[in-house]
Amino acid sequence: MAQKRVRWLESTTFAKIQKMKQVQLYKNKEQSVLRRHPWIFSGAIDLASEDLEDGDVVEVLDAKGKTLATGHFQNATIAVRVLAFDKKEIDAVFFTEKIAAAVELRRKLNLFREDHSICRLVHGEGDGLPGLVIDYYNKVAVVQRHSVGMYRSVNLIAEALQKAFSSEELIAVYNKSSETLSNKEHIEDGYLFGDCTVPHVALENGVKFNIDWIYGQKTGFFIDQRENRALLGKYAQGKSVLNTFCYSGGFSLTALQNGATFVHSLDSSAKAIELTDVNIALNGFKNHASIVADAMEYLKDLPESYDIIVLDPPAFAKHRDKRHKAIQGYKRLNANAIRQIKPGGILFTFSCSQVIDKFLFTNTVIAAAIEANRNVRILEQLHQPADHPISAFHPEGEYLKGLVLYVE
Ligand code: SAH
Repeated sequence: MAQKRVRWLESTTFAKIQKMKQVQLYKNKEQSVLRRHPWIFSGAIDLASEDLEDGDVVEVLDAKGKTLATGHFQNATIAVRVLAFDKKEIDAVFFTEKIAAAVELRRKLNLFREDHSICRLVHGEGDGLPGLVIDYYNKVAVVQRHSVGMYRSVNLIAEALQKAFSSEELIAVYNKSSETLSNKEHIEDGYLFGDCTVPHVALENGVKFNIDWIYGQKTGFFIDQRENRALLGKYAQGKSVLNTFCYSGGFSLTALQNGATFVHSLDSSAKAIELTDVNIALNGFKNHASIVADAMEYLKDLPESYDIIVLDPPAFAKHRDKRHKAIQGYKRLNANAIRQIKPGGILFTFSCSQVIDKFLFTNTVIAAAIEANRNVRILEQLHQPADHPISAFHPEGEYLKGLVLYVE
């Protein structure tokens, strides 16, 4: 928070009377909170309790002193992440209820099955828990905290998880936050409860994956592409597939499971290709080859043509100021794939950059098709799955978008 804008309150006014620390907004800055948007930016804050520290639970007041919300404070652009739109103790009961509700939604989505044991349990703002991500891999929960408030709440989170599941359903909780929190507090990854050796086998729609939350990217797997991988399965029978930016081979394995004639998996990370190869062997699939290469370079001049190409790059733009360059990157990538795919080919193309919305992405892909000089039709419009829900009041929660194109 820009300190100069904040008139620190005398402790007698707020801190001593009220147990919960407080922040007060400038006049007319309460509108977005009234619309249930879960972020309060530092520029909206007029007054704050004088002993406020990163990670504190704060009551948010409007300019007249009326309670608007309760949230986690952090001295950053997003100064408060709202946890409740009233005054609420953020205690064991709070986390138990929130996490139980999140798990209940995934049960409704039928994501815990004999042939399927991977899902996202908690998706930040989408589950009313900004700053917290929890993924589930066959009886193991992996917690990623993106705020100091969540960092401090770790024991409550681990306890709430154990209450939400039976002891057969949850054998361990691993904390992986050292990459996601850049903070003074000493952060070490490790088990909060139980123990489990990695890699650990978990199933996505009947396909086995070795999940390594300790050494893998993110929490170990890109769960958000589950439904899009399943959709690729419907197109894969008898087809040749190039899966670029493959990571641990999610799209490749789903294509092979569904009768692809052969699949080539490409990633610039040798470690990712190793994961893919291990997963191919784990499932006993044949007709697969791996390529360690830069996808942008490789796609300039493909040594062979494919029936299906998958483009699932990492976020090219993490901030608005990188958007223009990112669009050029997406355009180049898509134009090269569209130009070289077989006639009647199917392109699965994605963007997970939050700052590039679905309209901008679609327009970029259309521009790529024009550049490639091929007639292209949009068959399907894709997005993130239901276990990555978007709060209707937090449109920023929408990040994954994709298209299935038919290239004539
Ligand atoms: N499609 C994957 C997830 C992709 S994550 C899945 O379904 O699981 C993005 C991947 O792109 C990472 O594995 C990263 O190593 C890889 N990557 C990043 N830059 C790359 C580049 N220039 N060329 C090829 N791969 C790249």
